[in-house]
Amino acid sequence: MNQFGFFIDTSRCTGCNACVIACKQWKDIPPGPAKPVRVYQWEKGAFPELDVRVLPIMCFHCKEPKCLKACENEAIYKDERFGAVLVDHEKCRGDRKCFEACPYGAPQYLSDGEDEKMLKCDMCIDRLEEGITPLCVLSCSLRALDFGPLDVLREKYGDDGSYIGENEAPCHNACPGGIDVERYMTFTAEGKFDEAIDTCLEVTPLIGVLGRVCTRPCEIDCFRGRFDDAVAIRETKRFLSDYSKENSITSEVAVAEKNGKTVAIVGGGPAGLSCAYQLTKNGYAVTVFDKEDEMGGMMRYGIPEYRLPREVLRHEIDMVRSMGVKLENGRVISDLAALDAYNAVFVATGAGEGMPLSVPGADNDGILTAVDFLRNVNTGEKTAVDAETVVIGGGSVAVDAARTALRLGAPGVHLVCLESADYKDTDPMPAQEEEVKQALEEGVLIHDKYGVHSFIGENGCVTGVLCLDCLRVRDEDGSFAPELAAGDPSLTIRAGLVLLALGQRAPESAYPAGIPLNNRGRINDEGYFRTGNPRIFAGGDILTGTSDIISAVAAGNEAAGSIHRFLQGTAISEDRRVIPASARLRVEKKSEPSPRRSADERRHDFGDVSIGYDRAACSEQSERCLHCGEMQQSALIRREMPKRNILPWDSREALLLWSKRHPENGEELPDVINDIGEVLNPSEPTEFFRGKLMLKARTSREKLLYTTDDE
Ligand code: SF4
Repeated sequence: MNQFGFFIDTSRCTGCNACVIACKQWKDIPPGPAKPVRVYQWEKGAFPELDVRVLPIMCFHCKEPKCLKACENEAIYKDERFGAVLVDHEKCRGDRKCFEACPYGAPQYLSDGEDEKMLKCDMCIDRLEEGITPLCVLSCSLRALDFGPLDVLREKYGDDGSYIGENEAPCHNACPGGIDVERYMTFTAEGKFDEAIDTCLEVTPLIGVLGRVCTRPCEIDCFRGRFDDAVAIRETKRFLSDYSKENSITSEVAVAEKNGKTVAIVGGGPAGLSCAYQLTKNGYAVTVFDKEDEMGGMMRYGIPEYRLPREVLRHEIDMVRSMGVKLENGRVISDLAALDAYNAVFVATGAGEGMPLSVPGADNDGILTAVDFLRNVNTGEKTAVDAETVVIGGGSVAVDAARTALRLGAPGVHLVCLESADYKDTDPMPAQEEEVKQALEEGVLIHDKYGVHSFIGENGCVTGVLCLDCLRVRDEDGSFAPELAAGDPSLTIRAGLVLLALGQRAPESAYPAGIPLNNRGRINDEGYFRTGNPRIFAGGDILTGTSDIISAVAAGNEAAGSIHRFLQGTAISEDRRVIPASARLRVEKKSEPSPRRSADERRHDFGDVSIGYDRAACSEQSERCLHCGEMQQSALIRREMPKRNILPWDSREALLLWSKRHPENGEELPDVINDIGEVLNPSEPTEFFRGKLMLKARTSREKLLYTTDDE
């Protein structure tokens, strides 16, 4: 079967509605809400920073339409020649099963007195039979629409276009841990919170942790984000974790019968705990050794409590313990020979040493790494800061250190970084945008696009930081190669405390004797977390350098897969998933974070910054999910770009262009000008705000409301 479909260029569409009107005229559809093509416009922000988005939506003529399967009257069928999804109006009873099944709410209903009939795009099948393009495409003078066989469209528009419908939901594909987001969003939408939690538990027990501090690669790829905002996946996860705690729901994780094999894990951070969790589920007897007093690694000793409350972390570590994992704290394993009795060993000792900065004056007292500072605060060793503080660095650790110093009473906190604090620039700060925004709200002063020239001091103690303009962060190849201006420093900041957040590395103590190292002194990486010694595996930050929590979870889980294969004597490389890159440096559109406490209130304590979604907000978010994994490849949508500073006359301009167009293909275009006049009455200001985008209304009433608004 040939599959024809639409190409929609949302960066061209101005929302003039010409396609809608042409379609209604051609089909002789009376005025009213029912229309086969719908055009949505919505805006964010206020003029002149207006961010206007427009999206025409029609039936996408799925290859295997859900509406067809859902219709009990067999009124929907698929045309073999064009792949059009058509309705037999004789059979249609208007019972709306198709509407319930369609992810986009494409079916509309036309009432003729008593009866309702389903109405939707039929690709202008009568025109196609005569070799003429659908009228909506012809009516668009801005060339925002195109039509043809999908493979031809894909060739024509290349990778700029994205198919509606992927084989697996993009969120699922993007998650380094492979959490089946789509599935838990579906359960959440249905109010089946236990099942949603169980879905997350298949991958990780750290649901509350990830629900707060995950970098959200899933949201970057969330398909809904191409229409308006990504579904708030992280906040949903947080809600699920809070809900299970508040309602004392104890999820029983199935643990296989013990298989007699033992595994030792060195390092109780996210990678080590994840590996322990997965191996224990598979019947291994696992012991985790950690040198600190508590498990959690950087989650416990790096991330400040205002982002990750300790009871959330403790609760999830307790869950691992309750499965039978032995957690031994205060145990330094300096030689793997001590673990010879175990069948396999996984080393995940992290990269917890901060990098120094070699500039004049760096040996003054009062200069320390942000990692050490955060550790001292998180162990309770450091409880107050009484000096002006300058943090050097633009990553999450830098922002954490700055906000922590502020909470401990620092009279002023400055953050100096090479990158830009404007996330639209080519080299934005590596910290997540929301963290930077919150730090600014709390009063951290950011001096972006500066590098450190030197430190000044008195009597061996630091008193200030001298900075130079940063001319570039990366070279032509995109490699990190900062270039600072020559000459005298352009900025001087007073400081009694300087915190260096310039990246992390594994200290020597992270490499226990007996671990195979390469000639650069790093772990010998043989792929699949092997080290060269068949019973010793390694992963997480010590292998890859610092990454985010979900990447460490993924490393731990995959390492568990390798250890399991090794101990069961099966091929280690078979049937492996590729872990997608972390979201650390990607700053595209994500969902808005949940409400937070006011900056004035939160800057004085270590209480949770964000409040989290309530049940209603969480349900609303999960209902926004389009269930992409279940969709069919059926149309191309060019990546949507916001149209900044669009003025209201743009759509009039579009209509003017439309009206001036010469008839094509030898046919008269319908005279729609009168109808357009009805849409855009020149005596009334053009209404641009259409409320929030509802791709699919939840009720018939809502459907009526949301489909009448642009006519
Ligand atoms: S819309 Fe739903 S299924 Fe699709 S990518 Fe977003 S969360 Fe995943």
